[in-house]
Amino acid sequence: MRAVQIPEPGGEFEVVDRAIPEVGPTEVRVEVDACGVCHSDSYTKEGSWEGIQYPRVPGHEIAGRIDAVGADVENWSEGQRVGVGWHGDHCFTCEPCRRGEFIDCDHERVTGIDMDGGYAEYVTAPTHALARIPGELDAIDAAPLLCAGVSTFNALRKSNVQPGDVVAVQGIGGLGHLGLQYAAAAGFETVAISRGTEKRDVAFELGADHYIDSTVTDPAEELMHLGGASVLIATAPHSEAIESVVSGLAIHGQLIPLGVPDGDVGVDVIDLIENQRSIKGHSSGTARESQDALEFSSLRDITPMVETFPLEDAAAAYDHMMRNEARFRAVLVP
Ligand SMILES: [Zn+2]
Ligand SMILES: [Zn+2]
Repeated sequence: MRAVQIPEPGGEFEVVDRAIPEVGPTEVRVEVDACGVCHSDSYTKEGSWEGIQYPRVPGHEIAGRIDAVGADVENWSEGQRVGVGWHGDHCFTCEPCRRGEFIDCDHERVTGIDMDGGYAEYVTAPTHALARIPGELDAIDAAPLLCAGVSTFNALRKSNVQPGDVVAVQGIGGLGHLGLQYAAAAGFETVAISRGTEKRDVAFELGADHYIDSTVTDPAEELMHLGGASVLIATAPHSEAIESVVSGLAIHGQLIPLGVPDGDVGVDVIDLIENQRSIKGHSSGTARESQDALEFSSLRDITPMVETFPLEDAAAAYDHMMRNEARFRAVLVP
């Protein structure tokens, strides 16, 4: 099979021929139809995640079809359409697992980091990593939902927001353009925050009720004119951007950073104490939660805006994404 691997930390993408992987007893093998390119693929590219073994095939936004099932696998069969996301496996025995918090497993295995990912024609995955893809959803549309989609969808579901509340999405990119669609479809008064006017029209097309250009107005003040954001999903990976919106949260408002910022975030604690605001950590979702995101996307016709690249052009797709030029998600097609 063809695969794209990173040979060493900080190495370049290599297109290689590899043996099609054998399927383990509790795994399935997936023939990859599409794989999204996520900013977190840089952990594999740069070797900035502890314990990665090289060469490694990146990619954790995988959509494909089951091609082979392991000897001990029940409930999954050849030909089923499945997705594999960031959360690749958990141990079931550590303290977080004993509490059902599989996403926080002490021995979590991450797709494309702790095991080979989807920049390839085939990939093997534990059954715990599988989400069913509804029939109506195209593989190219499904792939980005396995990380960018479930991250934003689940962030909304796991917050304390109620229908009709103000939900703000800061940054309109791979994550933000899905966050806007989910917020609008789920019944929230939806606010897009971005720099400049370039993304204003697309924000309204994606379902925003309001648009805040943070280069000409104070986004926190603008949010307070709307009553404050009950939830603000911060996708722009910049500390200053996150700092600028804390005081735009409503009473009990939660700021959920999804983009990992470029430095420490300074927060005036008074901003949190007054109005009982909080900053809440959130990490993508388990396979079943990914399936929820896929099913809701299918139900409400939510699709990512994508640019496709042939698998061989993984390096170009990755550079395009890293330069923030993808509108809005780059997807590799083998
Ligand atoms: Zn990701
Ligand atoms: Zn565990």
